Amino acid sequence: AAKAGGRRTFRFFEPSMDENARARLQLQQDLRRAIAEGQFELHYQPLLGFSSNVMTGCEALLRWRHPERGMVPPLDFIPLAEDTGLINEIGDWVMRTACAEAASWPSNIRIAVNVSPVQLKSPTLALRIAGALAAAGLPPERLEVEITEAVLISDDDVALGILHQLHDMGVRIALDDFGTGYSSLSYLKRFPFDKIKIDRCFVSDISAGSSSAIVQAVVSIAAASNMTTTAEGVETGAQQSALRELGCTEMQGYLFSAPKPAAELHKLFATEAAAEDLQAAG
Ligand code: C2E
Ligand code: MG
Ligand code: MG
Ligand code: MG
Repeated sequence: AAKAGGRRTFRFFEPSMDENARARLQLQQDLRRAIAEGQFELHYQPLLGFSSNVMTGCEALLRWRHPERGMVPPLDFIPLAEDTGLINEIGDWVMRTACAEAASWPSNIRIAVNVSPVQLKSPTLALRIAGALAAAGLPPERLEVEITEAVLISDDDVALGILHQLHDMGVRIALDDFGTGYSSLSYLKRFPFDKIKIDRCFVSDISAGSSSAIVQAVVSIAAASNMTTTAEGVETGAQQSALRELGCTEMQGYLFSAPKPAAELHKLFATEAAAEDLQAAG
């Protein structure tokens, strides 16, 4: 497209493309160093059951504290980590750290960990996840792996095999960002999903008839196949009541809590436990 306008246009774009490539290379070098120098951290966002408003789990969300750029959001570096294969090393760190952290939580709280489709190309992944669970002393039932629809369209038997191995171990499998990809409903039968996470885009305009109909359809498909549903990105009380009305199982979003560092989470657990005690006593 840049060439279509002739030589001048092409020259005009050249320096900026060059700069892009340089920035990318720099980010790639920084990313390698980030692992070695411990610049990654995990924040955790609570998931709440709709029926009781009680916390059922937390999702681990990766943060990169870059020495010059400050906090870099995951969507700014995960695609690059996937392209370069660094996601495997980063993903292993995320899994070990999240499992170790969750082992200190109340035993009714699950940990959800995002796993990239690229990680699901590695035949030893299930074994490495089993190793992370064992090292942390965390029962597999308390781990939930979140994968996006991208893994479905790759039509990859390795990925399917890994997900079955994990599922057989007792790990739960969630389909993340449902509705944003290109997957067809037939995949839902082939893959051992326990949960569908309904993407934020349907939640944000739930008051529109079409979104509400889509959520309703997903909820009934999930129920018919023994899966639960989580609504992502719940920000308002109106969205919460609409989703409850539609029969969603769980919710996650800023309305209840943004992702927080591990230390702040422990305060939330204490408050929850106190509230439950109060309920039990009253
Ligand atoms: P995701 O797995 O769908 O995670 C949910 C994203 O929505 C998070 O963004 C979270 O901070 C954000 N969010 C939660 N509640 C609300 C809300 O009420 N309103 C709005 N506007 N946003 C909300 P975050 O942390 O920037 O992560 C973005 C994506 O990066 C994640 O989407 C996930 O796909 C990926 N990601 C994050 N951590 C990891 C990781 O450890 N490994 C891999 N492979 N991917 C990760
Ligand atoms: Mg997720
Ligand atoms: Mg999601
Ligand atoms: Mg999402």
